Amino acid sequence: MALNPFQMAQQQFDHVADMLKLSPTVREFLRWPQREFHFHIPVRMDSGEVRIFQGYRVQHNDARGPNKGGLRFHPSETIDSVRALATWMTWKCAVADIPLGGGKGGVIVDPSTLSNSEKERLVRGWVQQMWKNIGPRQDVPAPDVGTTPQMMGWMMDEYSKLTGQYTPGVITGKPVGGGGSLGRTEATGFGVVYTIREAMQHLKLESGKTRAAIQGFGNVAQYAAIGYKQILGGNVVCVSYWDRDDRASYTVSKEKDFDPQFLQSITDQYGSINKAKAVEAGYQIESADAWLSKDVDVLIPAALEGQINAQNVAEISKTVKIIAEGANGPTTPDADTVIRERGIFLLPDFLCNSGGVTVSYFESVQNDMNYYWPKNEVLEKEDHILTGAFHAVLDMALSENAYMRDAAYMVAIARVVKAMQLRGWI
Ligand code: GLU
Repeated sequence: MALNPFQMAQQQFDHVADMLKLSPTVREFLRWPQREFHFHIPVRMDSGEVRIFQGYRVQHNDARGPNKGGLRFHPSETIDSVRALATWMTWKCAVADIPLGGGKGGVIVDPSTLSNSEKERLVRGWVQQMWKNIGPRQDVPAPDVGTTPQMMGWMMDEYSKLTGQYTPGVITGKPVGGGGSLGRTEATGFGVVYTIREAMQHLKLESGKTRAAIQGFGNVAQYAAIGYKQILGGNVVCVSYWDRDDRASYTVSKEKDFDPQFLQSITDQYGSINKAKAVEAGYQIESADAWLSKDVDVLIPAALEGQINAQNVAEISKTVKIIAEGANGPTTPDADTVIRERGIFLLPDFLCNSGGVTVSYFESVQNDMNYYWPKNEVLEKEDHILTGAFHAVLDMALSENAYMRDAAYMVAIARVVKAMQLRGWI
């Protein structure tokens, strides 16, 4: 049976809590979210009928600042996946050392089945349920799987109307020109690449000679692929994606001249690639998990949780030197043990993909100042934060002889515990 993601988040935390000898009180406090909201959202569909959607917001910990984290719209969303994602956001903001806590929200829905106006009514409905408990100083949502900048724009508008004040800082990942930050779209994928660059320098690998296989072709995977070529000068050999017409996943590969920008140009807003056009351009269509067994130097799981697990971890090629977790929670604890024993260098999720929330933080800072920075400034500042976070974790891993995931937890937990102490909570 697949591991429940929240149990997985708690298991990872417990392991490091033992190593850090955290007191039972602190441990219990951090194992659970501080607050949760469960609600129903009535939405009038285009047909005239009303449908009720299940919505959530989980606020895991706000010791270091307002809760922060995305909104996932997915048919298999559960309260436990939202709890896990909210918990990982607390560690993510702490490891990046940005002054924010952790939160996550969601709606159980397949957004690709909704019209644009149904989506607008659904996200405005979400804000109508939650507006008293979100805000720039309380909790700041953002995009995640299944949500888009346009949806963030509608949500900011709904909140501003309800409060009677233009409040762009209530939500991040807004469209550029509508309170968004330049560079936010690229931020998570490029951040993955900045951490890979640092890992390669540490491992003394020549990035220009390396090859990567990527799982997923949503926002994170698209810019990880583009950045891998543009920033590292390396090659990407495949991405995988979920085909909306076939309702099945595939790997799209090409050993030479793989062009992520071309693939992006034939991909819809849900990450579904036009297969026929890809084949016409010389790409091969392979099985969903073909990406995992490629003879590459770097694997980048950048889709959903639990993708590298006890059933498939043995398929990872001997050539793989780095696993960069672009997704949240892509590796189950069983598979993690195998990866650690094989000595593959792991860039753990909440370090590797923290570029998105880092630029979300910059977006809210720009909203507060009402002054917007050029793109290169945003990306340089992001690189600076991620490089610092990587080295804080690497130093911990080296000094404590710890696995990179455990080292990231050690850095993050220590910062959250310190904030709780300074505030007199514990
Ligand atoms: N959903 C993204 C994540 O998992 C971004 C969160 C944010 O920008 O607040 O990190």
